[in-house]
Amino acid sequence: MDTSTDFSVAIAGAGLSGLCLAQYLMRAGIDVHVYERDPGPFVRQQGYRIILDQYGLEALRTSLPRPLYHLALATGDEPGGQLRFTDRRLRDAFTITFKDKTHATRQVDRLTLRSILQSGLDGRIHYGKAAAGVDSSDPARLRLVFSDGGSVPASVIVGADGVGSALRAQIMPDAAPANTPMAGIYGRTPLRRNGESIIPEPLRTSGVLAIDDRPGRAFFFTSMRFGENPREAFARLAPGSYAPTGDDYVMWGLLLRQEEVPTTIRRNLLALQDLASHMSMVFHPLVRRLVDNAELDAMVLNLFATGQRPHRWALPRATMMGDAVHVMPPFGAHGGNTALRDAALLGRRLVEARASGAPVERAIARYQDEMVPYAFRAVDTAAALMRRLTGGATAPHWVLTRVLPRLHRVTVPEA
Ligand SMILES: Cc1cc2nc3c(=O)[nH]c(=O)nc-3n(C[C@H](O)[C@H](O)[C@H](O)COP(=O)(O)OP(=O)(O)OC[C@H]3O[C@@H](n4cnc5c(N)ncnc54)[C@H](O)[C@@H]3O)c2cc1C
Repeated sequence: MDTSTDFSVAIAGAGLSGLCLAQYLMRAGIDVHVYERDPGPFVRQQGYRIILDQYGLEALRTSLPRPLYHLALATGDEPGGQLRFTDRRLRDAFTITFKDKTHATRQVDRLTLRSILQSGLDGRIHYGKAAAGVDSSDPARLRLVFSDGGSVPASVIVGADGVGSALRAQIMPDAAPANTPMAGIYGRTPLRRNGESIIPEPLRTSGVLAIDDRPGRAFFFTSMRFGENPREAFARLAPGSYAPTGDDYVMWGLLLRQEEVPTTIRRNLLALQDLASHMSMVFHPLVRRLVDNAELDAMVLNLFATGQRPHRWALPRATMMGDAVHVMPPFGAHGGNTALRDAALLGRRLVEARASGAPVERAIARYQDEMVPYAFRAVDTAAALMRRLTGGATAPHWVLTRVLPRLHRVTVPEA
């Protein structure tokens, strides 16, 4: 049992799960610090929206102080409620309508959400600190070791450092993620040009997946509309915190095969935009406009990977959350929600253990036993969806791209 009064938690990674856990623990009076590799909070645009589902919303509700939770809701918006599958000329194949109850889900801007999650953690987030490993020579007092050679002691260490986790090999030695053949080039384009929406009215509230004739190639887009103006909402609910953006945008992603992205251009934003622009030539002109008017600094290449179920947790006082454990291809929009769910669950188990005096190792093991089933259900679902939508199965692809669009009306005239 850890009866020391200097119980502390060190988290590697100030992403969605790391910050959410820090909020949960801080509210419970636990000494928590977050160590982030990036040199500052807003160095990357990370310009995309995420749809918070019941688990993501519940995690935020239980982790954040009330005003911050309301800030997340106020700056977000109702998601559109429809996902349209079309051919590459945006002719409808079929549409899925989501029957979520009002307020059951919320679309939020990820950068804004991160800013909300950072609020109130002053002095507890340390930037420019890349975690490199865990020193477990004293199992009761681990040390989080940084790439600069420094280290900090902590009673519990949590790896929330994303898909390329530096801690995974030590904490979950048998569960490195597996690569997939697929990738996405993601971008963000201002929703309005000269005061007019670039998205035609019929698609205003839809997500659209335009499937190319070539199997494995598709283009997704959806618009992110802020609810209350973030600057005003921050001033009202989190005075002193920063609203990083407030302009509505269209988030898009070109799905392609990894082998189509030369390794030499993977970090070159301009070259990625050129590639996306070239590949979008065969799509509807709206698609090409989205790519050509994208904000360059928000462009990102994501090589899809799938997490592998861990069978051994090697350090009883260290654990992991989010993409570091269960990265999944972005089909179904569960990655961020699952990461937030982990954070709230681990927070609850640690706080319960502190309150009852139960061994913290047991609390961590319980978290892991509960997390693995739901997280890997989401991984399996996302991987299966990806295979179905991008695999080479000829008959379903032919039906989707050739037969169904001919039976439907033209959604967006090609003017
Ligand atoms: C374009 C796109 C759209 C998405 N849309 C959705 C959606 O609609 N719904 C949804 O649920 N999910 C979505 N996701 C997935 C979601 O964003 C991720 O699953 C989620 O961010 C994972 O959270 P995390 O805390 O595990 O990791 P992250 O949020 O990735 O954070 C990891 C943090 O660790 C830091 N880090 C990395 N290495 C180190 C190190 N060695 N030391 C210290 N810090 C380190 C990183 O800089 C980063 O800040 C989307 C992803 C993408 C790319």
